[in-house]
Amino acid sequence: MLPSNGFDSLSRISGILNALSSCSSAADARATYPEFPNLAEHIAQLFMDDRLFDVLPRLQVQQDLVKRWQPPVRPALDPYISTQIGVFSKNFEDSETGHFLDYPDCCIRSFSERIRYALDEQHEHELAELGSRGGTKPYFVTISGFVPCSVLCEESHRRRLIAFADDAQVRAMRSLEAEIARSLPHFHSEYQGRYYEIRLILSR
Ligand SMILES: [Zn+2]
Repeated sequence: MLPSNGFDSLSRISGILNALSSCSSAADARATYPEFPNLAEHIAQLFMDDRLFDVLPRLQVQQDLVKRWQPPVRPALDPYISTQIGVFSKNFEDSETGHFLDYPDCCIRSFSERIRYALDEQHEHELAELGSRGGTKPYFVTISGFVPCSVLCEESHRRRLIAFADDAQVRAMRSLEAEIARSLPHFHSEYQGRYYEIRLILSR
């Protein structure tokens, strides 16, 4: 089922981690998640070895905050959790990590094949064009670390990974970022207080 907001989108990940925490075997994990079997097996094994004991409580804190602020797009998964479960490691194919995070194939392909690690000239060009046409909301938002194939990627919009947002929504997301940073400190250098990329769409 498609998420209707950022909370639903984060809940999908939490559902997967909860399911993997109670898997009784690696084979079980692989069979349950055929789109990311190696990552699923790895996470299930870590749970079985009791090495992820603090991951679900942290995720619950993040979810409670997301529920309170109702952002249109989910924030980046707590970097401590991502590190612990292996999302940042290079041991897994981009497609496995991408499917775990609900990224669409079109965006996974554009990320891997064109080596796009951030919003680039093509995204800026698309945003400038939208701005010059007018009639759009003033901001473009994406989950920190997610690079969509296009700012107009329909599947990413449907999955609540990117959105056009108004001032009130951006204020809510800034507050959410600050609260997550306060409640869930971590040591990942690239994600300090940044759970979203937010761009102003300039109108000329
Ligand atoms: Zn796409």
